[in-house]
Amino acid sequence: MNHDEKNIMVILSSPSGAGKTTITKKIQQKYQSFKISVSHTTRKPRPNEVDGVDYYFVSQEKFKKLIKEDKFYEYAKIFDNYYGTSKKSVDSTIKNNDIIFDIDWQGTKQLSKFKNLKLIKIYIVPPNKEELKKRLIKRNQDSPTEVERRFKAYDQDIKHWKDYDYVIINENLENCYKQIEKIILKNKNTEIISSQKVL
Ligand code: 5GP
Repeated sequence: MNHDEKNIMVILSSPSGAGKTTITKKIQQKYQSFKISVSHTTRKPRPNEVDGVDYYFVSQEKFKKLIKEDKFYEYAKIFDNYYGTSKKSVDSTIKNNDIIFDIDWQGTKQLSKFKNLKLIKIYIVPPNKEELKKRLIKRNQDSPTEVERRFKAYDQDIKHWKDYDYVIINENLENCYKQIEKIILKNKNTEIISSQKVL
């Protein structure tokens, strides 16, 4: 994977329901240079989700075919469904844009193996477990069984915070967003300055 030195790759991970998707969308709306990496998944679309925008929704069969053909930079099985980042979509995006990945800790580990990438890894934590449950229920996008499952995955997920460059507690969405914005701007500026020095 090669990319222009001035473009950065930001990974945002969190336990399900910590507010990551809202933050990701907010960054993209404010900074035109940022594009969200659209993953492939075998999960069924939620009522408000659009194919090709939120995910590329594919069958298990198709996903397994793509794995065999080595089409993914990373993929993982999460809550019984496959999720993956396709090489094609990243390679075309990173040429002219910064990129945000909304992926889990397993995908983060796999992307970290590409040593030539300028990755900024951010882990978002909900203020506490009860708050997370409230958010999962309030979101009202998953069945009660699915909510329970995602809630139970919290303990396993949170163990991986150490693999990240930054850990942010999402006590308040606006503050959390501002902290992430600061991290991004800091890294983006460093990149620009360092490439100017080379010139
Ligand atoms: P959801 O089903 O709520 O959209 O996503 C479930 C989890 O899958 C989230 O933690 C999300 O970050 C993760 N995820 C989404 N796309 C990818 C991907 O392409 N790769 C990996 N490893 N995780 C993903």
